[in-house]
Amino acid sequence: MNESTYDFIAIGVGPCNLGLACLTAPLSGVRSLFLERKPAFSWHPGMLLDGTTLQNPFLADLVSMADPTSPFSYLNYCKRQGRLYTYYIRENWYLDRQEFDRYCRWAAAQLDNLRCGHEVQGIRHEPATGLYVVRGRRIEDGGTFEYRARKLVIGIGGVPRFPDGCGALDREHLVHSSGYLAERARLQAGRSITVIGSGQSGAEVYHDLLQGSERHGYTLNWVTRAPRFFQMEDAKLTLELITPEYGDYFYDLDPATKAEVLDDQRSIYNGINQSLIERLYALLDERRHRDAPPTRLLTCMALEACRRAPDGRGWELDFRHTQLGRRYRHRADGVVFATGYRHQVPRFIDGIAERIRWNAEGQYVPSKRWAVDHHNREIFVQNVGLQSHGLTNPDLGLACHRNSRLLAELTGQDHYPSEPRTAFQDFAPGEDSGFVALEREAVGS
Ligand SMILES: Cc1cc2nc3c(=O)[nH]c(=O)nc-3n(C[C@H](O)[C@H](O)[C@H](O)COP(=O)(O)OP(=O)(O)OC[C@H]3O[C@@H](n4cnc5c(N)ncnc54)[C@H](O)[C@@H]3O)c2cc1C
Repeated sequence: MNESTYDFIAIGVGPCNLGLACLTAPLSGVRSLFLERKPAFSWHPGMLLDGTTLQNPFLADLVSMADPTSPFSYLNYCKRQGRLYTYYIRENWYLDRQEFDRYCRWAAAQLDNLRCGHEVQGIRHEPATGLYVVRGRRIEDGGTFEYRARKLVIGIGGVPRFPDGCGALDREHLVHSSGYLAERARLQAGRSITVIGSGQSGAEVYHDLLQGSERHGYTLNWVTRAPRFFQMEDAKLTLELITPEYGDYFYDLDPATKAEVLDDQRSIYNGINQSLIERLYALLDERRHRDAPPTRLLTCMALEACRRAPDGRGWELDFRHTQLGRRYRHRADGVVFATGYRHQVPRFIDGIAERIRWNAEGQYVPSKRWAVDHHNREIFVQNVGLQSHGLTNPDLGLACHRNSRLLAELTGQDHYPSEPRTAFQDFAPGEDSGFVALEREAVGS
């Protein structure tokens, strides 16, 4: 094997592939390389707002759910920082987002197979050797690199999503929540700001701007097409849907049922957490007793168009009320789109596109174990399977499980066996359940 030939190369280093790197680190004999285009690890820097936390308990760190004895655990990070007692006394079950970022940077700094500032630009397959050749550009000096590997893991995250009504030309000038912190001062210099989207990020941006509205004197609107500002569900038996067992059950459903189920589960993976709703409500109530600038919360408002205002200052937005059927026009100096992310198939895989399984919409078709190549053993994807794998797909609490299964696929050995049962519920009655399967009927009949 050539010096620069790896068992696998992982492309993109967010928490998913970083966790994979940490679980791979102790495995002697496994040659791996992790390539990240940013100059250093950073986790959603535009949304590292003060006081925001992870939605998962600290055990959803980079390794613990696969290997609680790993030196890369959050608890070991605290110990190494001399802060274990502080953490113990503080009882901080949900880590601050800034703290999670610091912890990930600490883990990344210990990995000698992680190359930051390496942007992957192309991949080809060499039939003679059966290897993938990954090439790209070093950000720091503009130089190029080329590495070879038997297998690939693509974990490049998503790109900001804007509603269809936003003209393509304006998109580069629009503010998405992913870039919020860098734009905050400019937004707050205006007289009016409108936040669009009522997920966790929308609520965090609205809360942050509400806190500054009196000092800066802007009016603030929070608008969503959802019929209500709904709370993220976290009942214990509902959380059993974010387990490996449920992920496997979901994968085997037919596509139409999956779409219905996902729609029904929106409030599990897309709502606002309870503590933030409570803080927001208290702040709204406190402001009433002061001479604070107006703020409005509006539901059922689907954005239909967004364009520059005719006077060149700010934006003009058209909405349709989804229940009243009436249209409304609105003007704001600044707009923040907290409208989520979408997965974009990267151009760099064009050279190996024929080795990959695609559906009619041009999306990957991942196997149960996240392989997307025709042989189900060479090209794996992280976190692009909402439609195939369901709500377990983006959740940090399941990333360790996925990484442990991926490592078994990548190395042919199960280094981190999963527990056989992860939920009290049976998602389908088993043979020993006392429920005898009869003939199958069409779903919904
Ligand atoms: C603000 C925010 C908070 C969240 N909080 C939670 C939470 O509390 N709990 C939870 O379960 N989920 C949460 N999520 C959802 C999810 O866990 C995160 O989005 C997570 O970062 C996904 O990790 P990832 O590794 O898939 O991708 P990302 O974190 O997006 O990382 C992908 C990386 O790939 C790199 N990359 C892209 N293209 C290339 C290329 N060509 N070459 C090299 N590198 C490349 C990018 O620079 C990036 O660093 C949150 C999401 C957001 C946006």
